[in-house]
Amino acid sequence: FERLKRGLSKTHESIVGRIDTLLLGKKQIDADTLEELEEILITADMGVKTTVELIRTLEQRLKRNELQDGEALKKALKDEITARLSQHTTALDVNAASPYVILVIGVNGVGKTTTIGKLAAKFRSEGKKVLLAAGDTFRAAAAEQLEVWGNRVGADVVRHKEGSDPSAVVFDACKAALARNSDILLIDTAGRLHTKVNLMEEMKKIRRVLEREIPGAPHETMLILDAATGQNAISQAKLFKEAAQVSGVVLTKLDGTAKGGIVVAVSHEFAIPVRYIGVGEGVDDLREFDPLQFVEAIF
Ligand code: GDP
Repeated sequence: FERLKRGLSKTHESIVGRIDTLLLGKKQIDADTLEELEEILITADMGVKTTVELIRTLEQRLKRNELQDGEALKKALKDEITARLSQHTTALDVNAASPYVILVIGVNGVGKTTTIGKLAAKFRSEGKKVLLAAGDTFRAAAAEQLEVWGNRVGADVVRHKEGSDPSAVVFDACKAALARNSDILLIDTAGRLHTKVNLMEEMKKIRRVLEREIPGAPHETMLILDAATGQNAISQAKLFKEAAQVSGVVLTKLDGTAKGGIVVAVSHEFAIPVRYIGVGEGVDDLREFDPLQFVEAIF
């Protein structure tokens, strides 16, 4: 928990630090206080829609005389955020199928490959047999990076040469996962899919292969978003949700950014479960997302 707290310290500063300044010397909470709070939450990337809703709830609680002082206000805010985060949070159940297929998507540089490596390490430590598929065939470096992770954690990697068809890699990976009795198949994909049509076409091809080769696959379509990109992460969530049947999301790089409010915005505005959060580059820095712990660490 202390590590999580340290990882989220900039977000703590941008939200709670500023709230504390706002409340300094205030005898009483009033409508103006809530207006200033609204500004803080929006600039902390909590999302306009979510913020407006939060403030509306707090206004009602203010009317009911539930917010006597700053502490009560902070407690109320904390509870309201936790409740919203808990609404959509469900953990990944990788024991639900075998092989359990996780299709990992997201634009370049958000931390896809690193997250796959961290996940592979986690599943390996639980004694599971893991197979990695290098579906990003556009950058040779991506497949190499995946192979480094595979060697490190003890997972086989299926890769083709640069420029080959991603769905052919996926096809081979499915065959290999079945033949080798893998428990988990993690599929990396290219992040250069800039237009929605392009993205949809590519996803359709990959999904068609998956559905045909492994019943029920993909069991998870996991979108990776870089929390440090703030509002860009929101637009990416929107694009990918429309184009790719996202079933879960991972927010990376929460360490070193003040924009941690984005976790709340993504979860609440898109109703997508946050599965994990990345709070560092190390292999242990991927945390299963726990709303209560997350909010506790920020406050
Ligand atoms: P990809 O292009 O989406 O596959 O992105 P990469 O996995 O190559 O990651 C891009 C960079 O982000 C690398 O330098 C990673 O070490 C770094 N990275 C990924 N996740 C995190 C995180 O949670 N925290 C920090 N600080 N860096 C991260």
